[in-house]
Amino acid sequence: MTTSSIQHGQSFDHEPLGFATRTIHVGNGTDAETGAIRRPITLANAYALPYDPSDINWSSSDTNLYTRNGHPNQRYLEAKLANLEGTEDAVVLASGVAALAATFTTLLNRGDHAVFSDSTYIAAYRLLNEILPEKYGIETTIVDTSDTDAVARAIRPNTKLIHIETPANPTLKVSDIAAIAQLAHDAGALLNVDNTFNSPFNVRPADLGADVVIESLTKYINGHGDALGGCVATSSEIAARLRYVYQVNYGGIISPFNAWLINRGSVTLPLRMRQHNATALRIARWLQDRPEVRFVAYPGLENDPGHELMRSQLARADSGYGGVLSFGLHADHDGHNRFVDALSIITSAVSLGHDESLIVFLGEDDERQYPYPERFHAGFFRLSVGLEDADDLIRDLDHAFATSRS
Ligand SMILES: *Cc1c(COP(=O)(O)O)cnc(C)c1O
Repeated sequence: MTTSSIQHGQSFDHEPLGFATRTIHVGNGTDAETGAIRRPITLANAYALPYDPSDINWSSSDTNLYTRNGHPNQRYLEAKLANLEGTEDAVVLASGVAALAATFTTLLNRGDHAVFSDSTYIAAYRLLNEILPEKYGIETTIVDTSDTDAVARAIRPNTKLIHIETPANPTLKVSDIAAIAQLAHDAGALLNVDNTFNSPFNVRPADLGADVVIESLTKYINGHGDALGGCVATSSEIAARLRYVYQVNYGGIISPFNAWLINRGSVTLPLRMRQHNATALRIARWLQDRPEVRFVAYPGLENDPGHELMRSQLARADSGYGGVLSFGLHADHDGHNRFVDALSIITSAVSLGHDESLIVFLGEDDERQYPYPERFHAGFFRLSVGLEDADDLIRDLDHAFATSRS
């Protein structure tokens, strides 16, 4: 039947289906019991056992058994995300950080070494810089992975994993996925890419050689700011290990309700990403020309150090540079607070990739041992450009500049 092949990402005539068609159809289907054309939320904790359960592997994720072992709403979303990322399989977990922790704890053993980006999500930094070395004897080296030679110099005989985030949160530094994948593979190591800022609409790291791709589903893929989730897209072999170690035995499973919400939110990913890309570029250009602005970091700007490299990584003709940018102001401590206070559309809150625009002030008293580049030290804003009318967002920023002048 054609609908069921479309649910697996194949068209009736074997021509490849487009990204938007797959975003809508893969992972959805007709409910066998009711005929509903939207799959239901299955909230049961447990599933009926067969007549003779003695052969069951209680740690298996292959059949419906117990919800922590895997459940239907998780699997529908996994099918879609593996398809969109271009990987054999995907494991959907409770949060983006659970996806990171699953990858690090599953792929690294005592005595192994990992190389990771100096600009990353804070939990990746804490896990790799502090928790895994102290508790599990894993060696790590932090480097500026936007400098491929620095990555090469950091590799040791026991290096098993390179973890990069590109563009990195919150500096927007861009790393060379293909070149670092080559370095990793030459050293017998794996490359893990946190692709949260791009989503698979803008960049598909697996196509560029990454072995493991992480998404915080909390951000663009859900897109509506109302559910946490994370995904590890990778080979079938690594996915099976992740499920055994982290999902079943550490317990980092996503709830059925959140998996359902994220699957629903994800159907508009291509439309939303096109708009995030376009509005963020317009705002980055506008900010760059303002006298109040010290700098703008956004790889979509032609003068950004990561621009050419990121352009070469874009997955499709209508991909862009994402909806997140960082910028610094010529302002003192209270000037930053006055600016945020004067905004009325853009909300002061953490997170990113939501429908609404979000801004957060970062960096003034940074505690990291490996600080951000110099221009970030005096404090800066990370702006997640939402789906509001671009004119309204620009008027909101303009008004805040005018009223926050001391
Ligand atoms: C938010 C974020 C994470 C963590 O995701 P959660 O869903 O909040 O756990 C990881 N990486 C990046 C780049 C993020 O922006």
